[in-house]
Amino acid sequence: MATITDNLQAVHRRIALAAAAANRATDSIKLLAVSKTFSAAAVLAAWQSGQRAFGENFVQEGIAKITELSDLGVEWHFIGPVQSNKTRLIAEHFAWVHSIEREKIAQRLNDARPPQLPPLNVLIQVNVSGEASKSGVDPGTEGDLAAFIRRLPRLRLRGLMAIPEPTPDTALQRERFALLHRLLQPLRADDAGIDTLSMGMSDDLEAAIAEGSTLVRVGTAIFGKRQAVNGEL
Ligand SMILES: *Cc1c(COP(=O)(O)O)cnc(C)c1O
Repeated sequence: MATITDNLQAVHRRIALAAAAANRATDSIKLLAVSKTFSAAAVLAAWQSGQRAFGENFVQEGIAKITELSDLGVEWHFIGPVQSNKTRLIAEHFAWVHSIEREKIAQRLNDARPPQLPPLNVLIQVNVSGEASKSGVDPGTEGDLAAFIRRLPRLRLRGLMAIPEPTPDTALQRERFALLHRLLQPLRADDAGIDTLSMGMSDDLEAAIAEGSTLVRVGTAIFGKRQAVNGEL
């Protein structure tokens, strides 16, 4: 059976090949290991293989691992939907939040970010595949939310994130990722601190890297298949 170490090596190879194909430096793409539903022991195994940044979707589950592994110096990213009543816990425990889609949530995270911690790094989530049920702001409205976030001293806007609807059609994958990349350009022109395009997962990281991803969020290809939790995978 493939171990987490083997899987991480395979993912690094995929990233390197995709970067080479796009004429990009491999180190311009950061790997976020998405550890939702997996144990602290699995996170530790990945950390022992050199992985330093981990993503979690569920607040309680994430904080249990953060607490258990607090001596490791892991960089924790919150990538799930943010509920208002969870903003304090998120602001206290995570270094990054990828899924900002409302001013109210940004304001609450800002207000709750402890003064002894550096500003919270945040990304605006954009709905690039136009599904009514999916989260993220509509393309074209991210500029207004970005302007709002820039006025919040305890948040640091780093870029955009998207979770396109899964599709085996690689041309369509690339179209959605290209849209997110286009939306980043005007934000970056306004703000030199914008450096992150969070897009690409286990099944579509090659297409995301071809379209300029700087951070891929990979769960299954590292940790294996997930059991359903909270009705989600
Ligand atoms: C679960 C999840 C991932 C990882 O998905 P895989 O297909 O397992 O790589 C990435 N991003 C977000 C926001 C997720 O919820």
